[in-house]
Amino acid sequence: MHIANVIFGVIALLVTGAVAFSISGAIYAFVRYRGKRVVECPETKKPVAVRVNALLAARDGMFGKPTIRLNQCTRWPERQNCGQECLSQIHRGPEDCLVRNMVNEWYMGKPCVYCGKSFDQIHWHDRQPALLAPNRVAIQWNSVPAEKLPEVFQSYQPVCWNCYIAETYRQQHPTEVVNRRWEREANGEYVPKEDAEETTGERVYKQ
Ligand SMILES: [Zn+2]
Repeated sequence: MHIANVIFGVIALLVTGAVAFSISGAIYAFVRYRGKRVVECPETKKPVAVRVNALLAARDGMFGKPTIRLNQCTRWPERQNCGQECLSQIHRGPEDCLVRNMVNEWYMGKPCVYCGKSFDQIHWHDRQPALLAPNRVAIQWNSVPAEKLPEVFQSYQPVCWNCYIAETYRQQHPTEVVNRRWEREANGEYVPKEDAEETTGERVYKQ
């Protein structure tokens, strides 16, 4: 009777360990492969936004090596039967092509074009940073299609959340906001106060 209990305990321990191992493999695969990514399409040599089927990766990750297949691409449905050769880029660096990481890396350490404050960690759920287009219009970064971000990052400038809100208000209500001349250049660019002739004063909103 005693030996039977020991054997039962060992089997229960092994089963529990195997289940825990499988679940951790599934969670690892899911977390690793979820999210939107930007890769270069091997056919057009241009950026495309793709998503890996993270649920499929998690399912197979329970039993061993996860299966990596796309379930979304901006060239679909026209090119849905492509060979998914771009997966090699994801295999090489699953973190590098994640949109979140690309955005984080681009903003990190850059100064806001208006207030000059450097970006640190991005708040993904609120107060997200924005961009200033070459035509001086401020837009939110997540309004840009992911596959366009590499191109946009070449010519747009970073704008913090606070300045984005202020700028949007300023652009929408140009007659209601007065900018001190030492705070803005002709196109609205920030001018550090130490470079200005005067050292006091804040932006004034008309009542
Ligand atoms: Zn700012």
